[in-house]
Amino acid sequence: MTGRVTLLGAGPGDPELLTLLGWRRLQEATVVLYDRLVNPSLLLIPDVNTKLINVGKARGTERLSQDQINALLVQYAQAGEVVVRLKAGDPYVFGRGGEEAQYLAAHHINFEVVPGLTSAITGLGAAGIPITNRQYASSFHVITGQKRHGDQQLDWANLAQLEGTLVFLMGMAELPEICRQLIAHGKNPKTPTAVIQWATQWRQKMALGDLDNIETAVKQKRLAAPALIVIGEVVRLAHQLQLKRSLSARHILAPSNLDRSLLFKLQDLGATVDFYVTSQPQRVKKPLPDFSKFRQLTLKDYFSYQYLIQALNAQQLDIRALAGLQLSTSDSLLKQTLQRQGLQIADDASSTNFLNDAKTLIIGPQDLQITAANYYGIYTYQRRELTLEQNLADFQAVIFTCSQDVLDFRRDFSKPEAASWMVAFVTSSKMQATIKTLAFKKVVVLNGDLLNMEQLILEELKHE
Ligand code: SAH
Repeated sequence: MTGRVTLLGAGPGDPELLTLLGWRRLQEATVVLYDRLVNPSLLLIPDVNTKLINVGKARGTERLSQDQINALLVQYAQAGEVVVRLKAGDPYVFGRGGEEAQYLAAHHINFEVVPGLTSAITGLGAAGIPITNRQYASSFHVITGQKRHGDQQLDWANLAQLEGTLVFLMGMAELPEICRQLIAHGKNPKTPTAVIQWATQWRQKMALGDLDNIETAVKQKRLAAPALIVIGEVVRLAHQLQLKRSLSARHILAPSNLDRSLLFKLQDLGATVDFYVTSQPQRVKKPLPDFSKFRQLTLKDYFSYQYLIQALNAQQLDIRALAGLQLSTSDSLLKQTLQRQGLQIADDASSTNFLNDAKTLIIGPQDLQITAANYYGIYTYQRRELTLEQNLADFQAVIFTCSQDVLDFRRDFSKPEAASWMVAFVTSSKMQATIKTLAFKKVVVLNGDLLNMEQLILEELKHE
């Protein structure tokens, strides 16, 4: 049986710029081979059992050669795997995606291409530069900045005469040469020019200038690859069309299971949110308690509720099996959720005391220290064997929503206690004890609804 290879475009960097088909293909994959430029957060999409292979830079080893990558793709497909070859931008815009496809075709492998947004177009837009414009440019040209691409030399005389926008990819090492050649072949030295690094991400930065002085601007701003070089009148529009958002360039580290609404709010404010890998809660399969023995049911948190419903469903039962019980929780988010579903639920400020109350059943995480007959541990945490290759130094803030998050964070980074430049946002004052050994610059405690955390983060991190 042969499998399938999908050459998949990851888009320019912001993980939300992946296509819907790209999302589905990642979920279906059994093996993912990804490049250096691909945003690590995308690696959270595949199933936990999917094999993830960094072919850009396997840790501590040389990056794989193109021949080795080609051979791996064929090998996995022939072994029946559902392979995704995850590439930055669009797979067929440089980056040798075409060659990989040719190799697969020559080996009669079932393959397809799922397009991605190319940085060559969307990277400009993210910096406020429309690649065409009725007034300024009626064409655009995407060019490799690598001196030799195959055996072809760039035709500078021709490039210098083009009226449209010129976009160079992979050109940072050759920036002085590109500018010099274009000017030498007749391009106006005062043509507006921009260099945009890491477009669509927290580290997006742009230098603006003219063809004859952009190099200085790039040096001043210390821009480096990966970057786009944009030459043409459209660059003038950047002044007007650049978005400034309150949290742009802010980089926040969050648990991978962070509430989506909070995540989206932060991203809409311009922040880039990347993740540490949270352990997955898993239902403990054991007989359900005898509900008829109790008067009250206290739910510790949302997972307790979710897994209780699952456990009931597994027995062909539903929430009505709890009809005689009064429900309570001290988790304000869970309370809101249940109320929205039309359930009456009481506040419970001191749930641990109920351990003494035989008529109160408490459902929560399985905790070995609690052996009381009225405590029912319904889930445990299972660690996902995935470490996203990220650098703590790249983040300004971290979010913890429960104590388990702190453990997961500590495990993902080698020196977490040294992160003295970071602001930590925590959801309850109880967690302050858990993070005491970590030397954060500041700890901000949220009171109330998790969604209000956006406000705290905004106050703390917004640009003046
Ligand atoms: N297939 C990719 C391009 C691969 S070549 C695409 O369609 O975007 C790699 C080059 O792409 C880099 O050297 C850089 O010039 C450019 N690039 C890719 N992502 C970028 C980003 N987020 N910001 C700036 N340049 C980027």
